[in-house]
Amino acid sequence: MAKIEIHAWYRQYRQLKAQAADAILLFRFGDFYETFDDDAKLVAELLDVTLTRKDYAVDKSKPRDSQKLYAPMAGMPYHAVERYVSELVGRGYRVAIAEQLTETEATRTDTRPRSVFAAGIQHTAPGEIERKMVHREIVRIITPGTVVDLGMLTATANNYLAAALVEGERAGLAYADLSTGEFAATEFSGERALQQLLGELARLQAAEVLVPDAEGLRPPGLAPAEARLTRDLAPMTRDEREALLPHERVARRLDAENAARWSRGHVTAWPAWRWDASEAREVLRRQLGVGTLAAFGLDERPLAARAAGALVQYVHETQRHQAAQLNTLRVYSMASFMFLDPQTRRNLELLEPGRPGARTALVNVLDRTRTPMGARLLRRWIAQPLVSLAPLQARQAAVARLVERSMLRAEVREALGAVGDMERALNRIAQGLAVATPRDLAQLRASLRALPAVLAAAGADLADLIPDDEMTPGAGAPPPPILDPCADVLDLLEQALDDEPPALLGASNYLRSGEDGGERPRRVIRPGFEPRIDALVQASRHAQEFIDRLEARERERTGIKSLKVGYNSVFGYYIEVSRTTDERLIPKDYERKQTLVGAERYITAELKEYEQIIDRARLQLIELEREAFARLCAQISAHVERLRRVARALARLDAAQSLAESAARCGYTRPHLDESTRLRIRRGRHPVVEQMLAEPFVPNDIALDTDEAQLLIITGPNMAGKSTVLRQVALIALMAQIGSFVPAEHAEVGLVDRIFTRIGAQDDIATGQSTFMVEMTETAALLLQSTRRSLIILDEVGRGTSTYDGMAIARAVVEYLHNEPHLGCRTLFATHYHELTALEGTLPRVRNYHMAAVEHDGQVVFLHELRPGGADRSYGIHVAELAGIPRAVTARASALLAELEGRRSQATARSEPDQAQSLTATEALAAPDGAPGSPPVAAPLRGGRRRADGQLSLFDVAPSPVLEYLRRLNINEVTPLQALNLLYELQKLAGEAE
Ligand code: ADP
Ligand code: MG
Repeated sequence: MAKIEIHAWYRQYRQLKAQAADAILLFRFGDFYETFDDDAKLVAELLDVTLTRKDYAVDKSKPRDSQKLYAPMAGMPYHAVERYVSELVGRGYRVAIAEQLTETEATRTDTRPRSVFAAGIQHTAPGEIERKMVHREIVRIITPGTVVDLGMLTATANNYLAAALVEGERAGLAYADLSTGEFAATEFSGERALQQLLGELARLQAAEVLVPDAEGLRPPGLAPAEARLTRDLAPMTRDEREALLPHERVARRLDAENAARWSRGHVTAWPAWRWDASEAREVLRRQLGVGTLAAFGLDERPLAARAAGALVQYVHETQRHQAAQLNTLRVYSMASFMFLDPQTRRNLELLEPGRPGARTALVNVLDRTRTPMGARLLRRWIAQPLVSLAPLQARQAAVARLVERSMLRAEVREALGAVGDMERALNRIAQGLAVATPRDLAQLRASLRALPAVLAAAGADLADLIPDDEMTPGAGAPPPPILDPCADVLDLLEQALDDEPPALLGASNYLRSGEDGGERPRRVIRPGFEPRIDALVQASRHAQEFIDRLEARERERTGIKSLKVGYNSVFGYYIEVSRTTDERLIPKDYERKQTLVGAERYITAELKEYEQIIDRARLQLIELEREAFARLCAQISAHVERLRRVARALARLDAAQSLAESAARCGYTRPHLDESTRLRIRRGRHPVVEQMLAEPFVPNDIALDTDEAQLLIITGPNMAGKSTVLRQVALIALMAQIGSFVPAEHAEVGLVDRIFTRIGAQDDIATGQSTFMVEMTETAALLLQSTRRSLIILDEVGRGTSTYDGMAIARAVVEYLHNEPHLGCRTLFATHYHELTALEGTLPRVRNYHMAAVEHDGQVVFLHELRPGGADRSYGIHVAELAGIPRAVTARASALLAELEGRRSQATARSEPDQAQSLTATEALAAPDGAPGSPPVAAPLRGGRRRADGQLSLFDVAPSPVLEYLRRLNINEVTPLQALNLLYELQKLAGEAE
């Protein structure tokens, strides 16, 4: 019978693993974090670390030399662990950290920081349990949304954890950034509840979204990639598992994720009972420390409360009950913000460039912040434009003052430069020993030290420079926006914290005096703050001094030049003498301890005695330091609300100065805002494109008004600048509604409630959403969701299908936007369907514009200038020339074109003279010289064709395959070689058509 003895550590490992089955368990072994079994295989594969093995049991029934049983193992050194963990978490895994909580021989004398995850961890003092097994515990489960470790966060972006549920026609959403303490919730109801929920999730770009594990409560489209580890590893049979490499399992799952559309992160299932209404309310009451939730406005928003409650429970679970930072909840209403759906956010490239590497995003142009808090707030402003005048005017006023007074701006910027990430430091301090480090206190102190300079720079203007925080409605009245210098807190920190404290606790060397050239003291607690530390240092320093002086003294006593005093963690202090030394010089009281290749190491009774004094003192000092540090954190936490308010005020000041700096540098002006439904822009520019261009950007005018020029149809050749002018209008409106100045000589913006952008499928190919179905789904949503106040941008909509289909759809969309009484909203429509320009004649509020291009030396020159009227030429032939189509072909095409134009003028003469005309392609083909076999050239001409009966004849022509081919051809993308092949193809097609 097998007689297997499992090692104690492995039993412990299995127990802890059972507590966190859905997480990768990092098990601390001295200087390493190790993973075992399947975790190890996965980690080795994902992180490219070596897969080794470790014996975890002995099988006594086996012969002696084959008794050991091995488990796969992969590990990482403790000092590099953050990098590995962020890699795993970034891929959506949960990582549980099991720390060693007993002092071991190694940790006993090792004063290096022990763990970045639990800096202030209480290690059991040696002696008590010395011989027993090392005790370990899971101190944290790190998931994408619950990271608080600075090394794993982006300073300028929030890291949100969100929780979402639906019930009937209601949806609830809560979100929190555990690294800053921001915690908010809202509820949506009615037909659009789900759309709004998904819109908010797209804004937040949460790193992790919690959803109920019950089908009925889970928002559609948010399928959890839950328990990914369990699903990756467990349900397979052993053979299946062996056959599949871990990264293949990962890839398989990633493919299946569509949730990425709504969040940049991961969807985690959280049991349905956690979302229970009464449970949630109870948890929230305790978390927020209030008797009733009434003041938060949660009574009318039960789903918001449930989402918030579920979120708090998840934080408790993963942070092991360290959730002190979530002490206030902001309940908000979507009505105060502009609605932007996920596609629009992507198309406008607000926070991230749409196509990787291609261009920059709006935020890159506007972000001239000086603090991480400011950078995060500016991103929130950009992602969440406002829809009411008062808060916008407050922001505008602050920006305006900073624009006008450049000295003031320069001084404020200078002063803010010394402020660090006070918000995150505070937040960690509020969580006390489990998270806070001396580095956080130092960070807070540095920021507080910088405050007087900020106050001095802002001077009497302070109140006007800090726009009111629109984020505070909800619980009670918002506190006045003040910049309290918090001198008392700074005083406390100055007294308590030494000048350059080590990054983590337990790494101080209080016993060093720094005198007589020895090692400089590095300590967390400043002398004079904690009498017990001072007394202990006083009583033990002589021992350190003895050792510090020992080397010089012993060299003199023995006359051995090579004598050195050293230290190692196993033997402690020793006296080292090279082996070539004459034996007779070694004093009698030297006791041999260790023999090395080139040296002998000795100790003496006296040395041992002093070493013991130092060791004891050091351990006590670590303990006293911990206590003093914890007390300090608690003292500062008592002021956390005040300090947070300061951090928020600084963020607002910073965001405002950032907008002002951009305005000054890029020549923006203050837009006029009102409640009208106008949008007038004189000499407007695209804020991002203008930065990217080598040549000057050509400004353009736009005037939109729901009562007059409501819908502009913009035509013009490819590359003429249609898409640019469209986006620039949307971006100017958006910038105006975050309180920014805008790239225009003059702008009047009647507040917009939503911006919708839709891009025809072919233009959108890079994002992988290139199907016509997507284009139409998005267009449908737009038609259903817009209001009279919305701004609609349509770029080549209808292009993802055949010409006639596409044209028909495009036209119907225009008619609907124009005619539906609840719509009639400001719309820009760029299209290559020149035929649509005819709509100007039938729909009173439609206006035609085109992007001008001219011919110069036989070349097409794009002027990028928007002019009234439809495009008069397609310039297709010239583009064909540029592409290398042989002269003979283009000459023939020019002749055909001239002829068609001749026919057009005859046709014009035949019908009403004031109406723009064009010939259909069929007519072109039927032209006398357009004999079958020769390449047909269809040139869309000015205006749309109108038959005598006044009906547009866009769709009454049977499409010719040749023509169809030509129409769909994007000549700009044709290489000379392709052009030749193309001609061959065309000829063949034409032959077939015959
Ligand atoms: P279209 O949509 O008509 O094909 P785009 O708007 O994509 O054209 O513009 C093509 C390129 O022309 C842009 O990438 C930009 O480099 C340049 N461009 C566009 N508008 C302007 C402008 N107003 N001034 C200068 N260059 C411009
Ligand atoms: Mg375009």
